[in-house]
Amino acid sequence: MRLKGKVAVITGAGSGMGEATAKLFAKEGATVVATDINLEAVTSVVEAIRAQDGEALSIQHDVTSRTDWEKVYAEVQATCGKLDILVNNAGIALAKPFLQQTEDDWARTYRINIDGVMLGTQYAIPLMEKNSGGSIVNISSISALTGMAGAGAYTASKGAVRSLTKAAAVDYGKQNIRVNSVHPGYIVTPMSAPHMEHPDYKQHFLNQVALPNLGTAHEVAAAVLFLASDEANHITGIELPVDGGVTAK
Ligand code: NAP
Repeated sequence: MRLKGKVAVITGAGSGMGEATAKLFAKEGATVVATDINLEAVTSVVEAIRAQDGEALSIQHDVTSRTDWEKVYAEVQATCGKLDILVNNAGIALAKPFLQQTEDDWARTYRINIDGVMLGTQYAIPLMEKNSGGSIVNISSISALTGMAGAGAYTASKGAVRSLTKAAAVDYGKQNIRVNSVHPGYIVTPMSAPHMEHPDYKQHFLNQVALPNLGTAHEVAAAVLFLASDEANHITGIELPVDGGVTAK
């Protein structure tokens, strides 16, 4: 088991990649603290993990709320006594042409996609310092590497996730805290399926991928697992695309 004895907080774990990561981490022996704004969804993920004899607990958590982060880490300390891994996965996608974006669109996208990562990281680092180290994996996007048409606020917010990752990696490396980003490409999840599986658009997405298929949430989770695990002990500050070769073109 690749995460035996580790405690991992995963945000946005009620759906898509967060759900797949929570299930995979539990299978690999981690105690998973699965959080999501949608309590019903994340509770059902935790029930599925427990049904497979995994260890997990669910917490309702809005990543934009400092109070909610305090609640999550108080629960982690009380129940698990330490923190080894944080996966900042929760995010929203806003597909809206640049000129039509309002300040509210911009602010909401930033609040969830980057402020949420900042808050989670600020609270995780002191706990990881106490634990002589840890691993933070931030879910960015290929849009942070290449730009994405029609999604300026989303693209900019994911670029900020990429940069925050490198800044935190440099600042906390000597404390043995590793911080890396994963950049999913075209991955079919509840967030993306309405576009990617739409008969009018699916071929457009497939044309951009070098491999035969669009990605799955499990394929992203496998990359997150590697970076979170001790196998990646000398890896920090990297950006890992999981994109079937989109950015290789
Ligand atoms: P998803 O299926 O929509 O799952 C995201 C989860 O986060 C949902 O359960 C959502 O709840 C929750 N959430 C939304 N706002 C939140 C908040 N303020 N606090 C806590 N949880 C919140 O999305 P996904 O496709 O798995 O995406 C996961 C991450 O990968 C995101 O950061 C996304 O930007 C990134 N990504 C996705 C793709 C892709 O192709 N799918 C590509 C590149 C990057 P609700 O459903 O109730 O809103």
